Formats: sequence, structure tokens, C-alpha cells
Amino acid sequence: MTEKLISVIVPVFNEQEVLPVSYQRFTSALRDIGYPYEIIYVDDGSRDGTVDVLRGIARADERVRVLSFSRNFGHQLAVTAGMDTAGGDAVIIIDADLQDPPELIQNMVAMWEDGAQIVYGKRVKRKGETIFKKFTAWAYYRLLNAMSTYPIPLDSGDFRLIDRVVADLFLEMRESNRFLRGMSAWMGFKDVPLEYTRAGREAGQTKYTFKKMLKLAFDGICGFSSRPLTLPGWLGVALCALAGLGLVTLIVLAIISAAPPWLWAVDGILFIQGVTLIALGVQGAYMGRMLDEVKRRPLYIIKERFGKGEY
Ligand code: UDP
Ligand code: MG
Repeated sequence: MTEKLISVIVPVFNEQEVLPVSYQRFTSALRDIGYPYEIIYVDDGSRDGTVDVLRGIARADERVRVLSFSRNFGHQLAVTAGMDTAGGDAVIIIDADLQDPPELIQNMVAMWEDGAQIVYGKRVKRKGETIFKKFTAWAYYRLLNAMSTYPIPLDSGDFRLIDRVVADLFLEMRESNRFLRGMSAWMGFKDVPLEYTRAGREAGQTKYTFKKMLKLAFDGICGFSSRPLTLPGWLGVALCALAGLGLVTLIVLAIISAAPPWLWAVDGILFIQGVTLIALGVQGAYMGRMLDEVKRRPLYIIKERFGKGEY
């Protein structure tokens, strides 16, 4: 048997009800795989009995490690903290509420052994979620994809396996407003979907409030597209073109008969608006570049090196 270590990261926020059940499901699924493993629970500033439950679990099982945040920093940062500590050859991110079946980890590991560097869970069906959530999620993934320069897998959450190489790159990407699934798409490694039906929550309520969801949605768009910043500029170009056409029409009208004076004013306003929007778009283009600079992402990623020369 290979001695590859599997790290499982579980972000938790006020999950005292599900923890004992999900711990059982995780361990029995992981035992079946047969690799050495570690489970890293990241408590995202829970205010219920979560930390005590985790203390109990960690006391009884030396493969469990726990990181506990001073306050609620959010799911994406909890996962990041887990990645910062994970030592595995493969790192798996899974929610604590059993919406992502732990038994699928076995399939993910098999696909990883076959060469996939990222295996992402693709939700073909969602159970126990409101129509509103299903629809907004469906629409959002499509909007995001249309806006992003690189394809971001549709209907995939953070439930995934990443190879050590990918995990190391996450350590290098220190942007604060993190949208992990976008970041992993940005890296451009070979990713393979694993289709599954998303179960309902085992217990408790969703910890992703509408506000948190909105923030994540914006982080996705702002982190992977500067189109919202430059779009006004293009609108401005269209307005100026329209004003130009209007001007030509007005001149012709003035020659053959007479153009009403207010039409000249409308055309002028159109032109001024256009210029303003172009100026906004140009500023947006600069801001987008500034954003890229402050994010300090790696400039490029080398997948492979070969050839006879020394590097
Ligand atoms: N979570 C977290 N911090 C938060 C919100 C959620 O660590 O601020 C955890 C939560 O405990 C769960 C996972 O992230 O393990 C996904 O959250 P949840 O199941 O509430 O989201 P949903 O599945 O409803 O989108
Ligand atoms: Mg959930």
C-alpha cells in the first residue's frame, strides 16, 4: 500500500448537532479507503458547543486536528486556514453537515490516482434547498462564467480534492477576499468533475446567511472579472457613436429644412454622457489593473518542465 497522506478539511460554524454523526461518517468512509489520513476541523468562531465537541473528538482520535478561530472569519477563510496546515498529498474540502456524501471521497481519491489534480463535486441535483436558492445558484454560476476570462466549473461548490501541487499554490495566493473555486479554476490544472446529488442537511440550519452568500457571490465576480469596471466605458462609446449619428442627421435636417433646437440639446447631452462614461470605463481599466497588482497572484504557473538543459 502507498503511504500517501490524505488531509480532510472540515470548516465548522455552530455545528454541534451534526458533528458527532458526521465524524462517524467521515472516519468510516476514510477507513474504507485505506490510506493514512488526518481530519482538520477549523472552527470558524462558533458560539455554541462546537469547540467542546471537537475537543472530545480530538482527545479520542489522534488523526483529528482542530484549529479554532477567535471569531467568525467566514467559510472561505476557515478552509484557507485548513489548507495552510494540511500536510497531505491530497487535500479534501468537505462541509460538516453531510450535504456532500463523505463516501464520495473514495471516488475522488481513485480519480486523483488516475491523474486528476483537481476533482470537484458537481451537483446534478440539490435536495432540501429552497427554490430561491436553487435558482439563484443556477443563475449565478452561469453569470460568473460568462464574465470570467477562464472557465469556472458550473454548479460546483468547494467540495473537492486537490493535489499537493494545487494546495501549495493556494499557499502562495494570499488575496483577502477569497473565492476558492475560482482560484482553483484560475490555476488551470486538469480538473475532473464528479457528479453527485447534494443531500439535505443532516441537522441544524444553514450557516450561510443571505448576506454571506451575497458577499461570496461578489467575491467571485470581483476576483475573476474586471468587466463590471470597464463595461461603462463601452456603453459610453456606444452613446458617443449614437450622438455622432445624431449630429449627422441633424446637419442634414438643418440643410434640407430645419431641425428643432431641443434635438440639438438632446444630442449634446448624449455626447457628454458618453464622454463621462468613457472616462469612467478608463478609470475602471486602471482600477482593474491595480486590483491585479495588489492581489499579487503568481504571474504564471508551470505545469511541467522537460528537456535536457539544467534549470
Ligand atoms: N461555515 C463556516 N463559516 C461560516 C459559515 C459556514 O465555517 O461563516 C461552514 C459550515 O459549518 C459548514 C460549511 O461551512 O460546514 C457550509 O456551510 P452551510 O452548510 O451552512 O452552507 P450551505 O450548504 O447551506 O450553503
Ligand atoms: Mg450545507
